[in-house]
Amino acid sequence: GNLVSAYVNDAERDAEASVRPKRLEEFIAQHRVREQLDLLLRSAMRRGSPPDHILLSGPPGLGKTTLANIVAAELGSGIRVTSGPAIERSGDLAAILTSLTEGDVLFIDEIHRIAKPAEELLYSAMEDFRVDVIVGKGPGATAIPLDVEPFTLVGATTRSGLLTGPMRDRFGFVAHLDFYSPADLEVLLRRSARILGVPITDDGAAEIAGRSRGTPRIANRLLRRVRDFAEVRADGTVTVETARAALTVYDVDALGLDRLDRAVVSALVDSFRGGPVGLSTLAVAVGEQPDTVEEVCEPFLVRAGLLARTPRGRVATEAAWRHLGRTPPNGTFG
Ligand code: ADP
Repeated sequence: GNLVSAYVNDAERDAEASVRPKRLEEFIAQHRVREQLDLLLRSAMRRGSPPDHILLSGPPGLGKTTLANIVAAELGSGIRVTSGPAIERSGDLAAILTSLTEGDVLFIDEIHRIAKPAEELLYSAMEDFRVDVIVGKGPGATAIPLDVEPFTLVGATTRSGLLTGPMRDRFGFVAHLDFYSPADLEVLLRRSARILGVPITDDGAAEIAGRSRGTPRIANRLLRRVRDFAEVRADGTVTVETARAALTVYDVDALGLDRLDRAVVSALVDSFRGGPVGLSTLAVAVGEQPDTVEEVCEPFLVRAGLLARTPRGRVATEAAWRHLGRTPPNGTFG
């Protein structure tokens, strides 16, 4: 697998589960989102009714699934987990909705990818806690209204702008998760190391934090790989030396760029001489969907100061040239 990709695979879920925060107070950083959620949940509990539907947006690996589970835990509710792509027919969604018990949390990951008929079914469930299930076909088809127990939908998406307007409007609370600072990731890494029983020095945590692409999932993953290295090649302690040596073995560069990040930066510099180049041209050059390049990759590259968006297209910054070990063209950045 790709060590720095923010996407998770099945084999990794167990490893992630052990360090996943269970309560809001364990969730590192994102203070505004935490405070807002805390108010939302507490007030709902006071009133004794489920809180408004919650939309969480942000790139993969920043804690959306974790927060959905925390919402359920704080409310003392059950949680059902599904994803937009998994809901192909509205019947699939109707079955889930009608099986919810009062106060349940329904988590739909990648909610922007839900099929249109299912999305419309979801509207009425969110708004009126009822769904019309169509039975039969053609002229004889009838709509049977079914009640849905009051529930809270937690939707996750890479960017709230990907949702249709009517969908977005039905969320009473929208929170955006941003990349984590290296300082926040250090705190996160020390917490994870404690849970895993791995000794870690402060500079060891700082070294991993700086290469984690602002992403908790990647920080935890790199910690596990550096731990392996430290156990086999050293005395088991994660230090700046073991971290550097391990991350070199695993081919993680100094900024922790993932495969796609690197492909985008190299394409910009090598194929388009630094740009400017349009999003769709750039996406074709790296063999990815424009959405993925724009929603997953660019936010980090912009934040890392490697890519700039200009009216004429994407350009590589001077730092991008240097990161690839190249000399930026003269005059471009004067
Ligand atoms: P997403 O759903 O946004 O892709 P996850 O919620 O699955 O991300 O988080 C990925 C991993 O990072 C999980 O193992 C989780 O425990 C960890 N993580 C994410 N955010 C935090 C945080 N704020 N504090 C501690 N751990 C976090």
